[in-house]
Amino acid sequence: MKPLIVKNTGEKIYPTKVICLARTYRKHAEEMKSELPSEPILFLKPPSAIIYSSDDIVIPEISKEVHYEGELAVIIGKGGKNISEEKAYSHIFGYSAFLDITARDLQSHAKSRGYPWSISKGFDTFAPLSEVVKKEEIEDPHNLNIKLWVNDRIKQNSNTKYMIFTIDQIIGYISKIMTLEKGDIIATGTPEGVGEIKKGDCIVLEIDKVGRLENYVV
Ligand code: MG
Repeated sequence: MKPLIVKNTGEKIYPTKVICLARTYRKHAEEMKSELPSEPILFLKPPSAIIYSSDDIVIPEISKEVHYEGELAVIIGKGGKNISEEKAYSHIFGYSAFLDITARDLQSHAKSRGYPWSISKGFDTFAPLSEVVKKEEIEDPHNLNIKLWVNDRIKQNSNTKYMIFTIDQIIGYISKIMTLEKGDIIATGTPEGVGEIKKGDCIVLEIDKVGRLENYVV
């Protein structure tokens, strides 16, 4: 399993879990023909899915339709349970650029039957993650441009200000359910513009000041 790598220091941190949010941007919920939630929708990815920039994303044989989703990830520094929104910032270590790679056909199949999303979200290489930037370097995580290109064509172009929950709310909500530990990754959901990737494609994700991912699909 790959650890998180902290930018500049090279420190390695092993996450215990990757917690992902769904439908946190209004326009993405609309393009998925889904309702906006009144509280966060959560699912987990196994940490074994983590890869780095320049590693390859592997399309699994059992999927015919794999999608990219560019997202801001929040990395937990100080663990905790029942963290108040007021104290949430003190539990953050930093931020990364994150790709929530999704086997959309398998997810649609699971959704239609009420099954969990674990298969569609959990394949090896389905969690590309940039180096972690410490929180002190990011003035306002709620105002970061997030852009994604496939083969140099821009596909996603939004800003974290359009998220329907604040990071403080998200940390407060998750920590009521599960203890957060150092290194845990919270992927805050994707804006509109998701789409398919095929073998040979090059995906680039850039989030202002946070990081850049560049991954080929094989
Ligand atoms: Mg996502």
